[in-house]
Amino acid sequence: MNRNLDVGHIVSLLKNVLKKKDGLIPLHQPTFRGKEWAYVKDCLDTGWVSSVGKYVGAFEKKLAEYTGVEHAIAVVNGTAAMHICLKLAGVEEGDEVLLPALTFVATANAVRYCGGIPHFVDSDWKSLGIDPKKLQDYLKDITLIRQGCCYNKQTMRPIKAVVAVHTFGHPVDLDPILAICEKYKLVLIEDAAEALGSYYKDKHTGNWGKLSAFSFNGNKIITTGGGGAILTNDLILAKTAKHLTTTAKVPHPWAFVHDEVGYNYRLPNINAALGCGQIEVIDEFIQEKRTLAQKYRQVFKEVQGITFFTEAAYARSNYWLNLLLLDEEYVGLRDPLLLATHEEGILTRPSWSLMHKLAMFKECPRMDLSAAQDLEQRIINIPSSVGLGEK
Ligand SMILES: *Cc1c(COP(=O)(O)O)cnc(C)c1O
Repeated sequence: MNRNLDVGHIVSLLKNVLKKKDGLIPLHQPTFRGKEWAYVKDCLDTGWVSSVGKYVGAFEKKLAEYTGVEHAIAVVNGTAAMHICLKLAGVEEGDEVLLPALTFVATANAVRYCGGIPHFVDSDWKSLGIDPKKLQDYLKDITLIRQGCCYNKQTMRPIKAVVAVHTFGHPVDLDPILAICEKYKLVLIEDAAEALGSYYKDKHTGNWGKLSAFSFNGNKIITTGGGGAILTNDLILAKTAKHLTTTAKVPHPWAFVHDEVGYNYRLPNINAALGCGQIEVIDEFIQEKRTLAQKYRQVFKEVQGITFFTEAAYARSNYWLNLLLLDEEYVGLRDPLLLATHEEGILTRPSWSLMHKLAMFKECPRMDLSAAQDLEQRIINIPSSVGLGEK
């Protein structure tokens, strides 16, 4: 093997960018520097910590304003948001849903919560998300349209929706995917769990799908401890989402009437208070993330055999989780590099395992996944916390 690429050299470059001293540098840790303390204290002082309180509505309003999506419904986590998006997209028992094999397990799990069947598609090198060209060619082969519905000819099951995952915050090429959805009568859902602060062309992510899911888990760009949101520009869907996620209770001062099987998915007020403090300073967060990405890019530009992944021409990314891509001939250096960085206290991570390799999804339908399989071997995520990009 050509030894031009040297693990020790990469570690020293990372240490340089990260100004590594003693202690660990996590992959991603939260930053609290806004009014989080004051807002959470207010919840404790007033006793409004749980399912009712002013911060839930305030957080939803701030999310809608920030993203430009008309309606936001705050929920307990991103997985619950995904579940409700799919349910409202009409995914039912036995329906297939197209989603990338390269994603976090929650995307595929949420399909199963609806009784749906994940159908895995390949990724694009440019975006790390669904490859539109490959999806188009595949659907042309395997589907037929009958009475306005798309069917998988091989399984004869309906295909209902496409989930576009904005991997590590990098926007998927949505226009060609929207065209495919139109042609094949599929509902587009965005898994924007990682993409708050990321734009596709002139609009924030979450505006393109009929519904979209965001996450505010502790490792995401802003956090509510645990939390998520459903975003949509459709008023009826927004109302239904609110109803379903709040136990489907019919509003009334005291009577407990619920008109369908609902979910207890509402975000508690104390978590929303944290979220209000966080989203007020998100512009600063994004700026620092982009500064850090710029530093990484600069340093790795000179290095043969490994590439720092940057946003596509159509995108403005939040650079939520930065990554290096090993060239094909160096995939063997991945594990030594993970080991060496961990030994230095720089926490790095490989790609998720592709979904079709997990026990519960082994039997699911899938297309040729050669790009995703290649990416899986070559991705190394590197530290990306907000403070690391401070001036
Ligand atoms: C984090 C994440 C989720 C799930 O969000 P939780 O809040 O952890 O439930 C879903 N999809 C992707 C791509 C994610 O990164």
